[in-house]
Amino acid sequence: MQDSTTTGVGNLRIAILSGKGGTGKTIVSVNLSAVCDDSVYIDCDVEEPNGHIFLKPVISEESEIKVLMPFCNDDLCTGCRACVDFCNFNALAYVNNKIMVFEDICHSCGGCKLVCPENAISEKEKIIGKIKIGTSDNVTVITGIMNTGEESGVPIIQGLLNREFPAGTNVFIDCPPGSSCSVMESIKEADYCVLVTEPTILGLHDFKMVHELVELFNKPHGVVLNKCTASYNPSKQYCIEHDIRILAEIPYDNELGKLNSDGKIIVRESKKYRETFTELLGAVTKEVQ
Ligand code: SF4
Ligand code: SF4
Repeated sequence: MQDSTTTGVGNLRIAILSGKGGTGKTIVSVNLSAVCDDSVYIDCDVEEPNGHIFLKPVISEESEIKVLMPFCNDDLCTGCRACVDFCNFNALAYVNNKIMVFEDICHSCGGCKLVCPENAISEKEKIIGKIKIGTSDNVTVITGIMNTGEESGVPIIQGLLNREFPAGTNVFIDCPPGSSCSVMESIKEADYCVLVTEPTILGLHDFKMVHELVELFNKPHGVVLNKCTASYNPSKQYCIEHDIRILAEIPYDNELGKLNSDGKIIVRESKKYRETFTELLGAVTKEVQ
């Protein structure tokens, strides 16, 4: 069970990424948060947030995330189609003498309103998701949830990350899987990126993509090799060949698998893994300093 020893240097923003789902990104994120003093865990995987399943926070606050959608006044519209031509996302069409807005693919850029020569376009609010804030022992848990069918989680991720945190707090950002614009938004202000990968060819393929992304953003980074066995690990080989810092190797282990499938925070249940994640946090903070 959990002992009282926690660690962490404070004021760091650590992003945890993986090229694909199922590599153990959330396990690493929630357990790093749980092993650290005064931490904040932010679930930016807004399409499928699942950190709360493990942390089970007591929710104290909930708010909606809204974006602005264009809305056309048909009486003012002359049908010039300047707005339709402007929209890069093909979210507007002029049909039967009326402007139609396809809200699911509109990115709320506001451009159509600006280019309309008749001031026929105004904006209305649309709720695209919500943010929940709660606590789980030493961890403040902030979760973004995008409504089904929405095109982009970026406004929700901005709502999650554009906030002040108390001095001394370490922030752990559980990024969406992959290397899309949602991931870019999640790592933008991170001090350090932890890439989580597994020892498969597919795992290596997706790991390479996310590695290219953090290189592109010029973010300091290291790797957690998860589900390690005695067999050949192509991701480890890639790290060695490209001189990428290996922060930890977590074994493919029944104890860990059982705790995880039971929805437990591993470091609160297992002394062995508490040491593993404390060492991982120490390795990350040492890298950042
Ligand atoms: S707000 Fe931007 S994305 Fe949406 S319809 Fe207008 S131009 Fe297109
Ligand atoms: S730019 Fe304005 S006037 Fe022209 S089609 Fe669009 S809404 Fe109508």
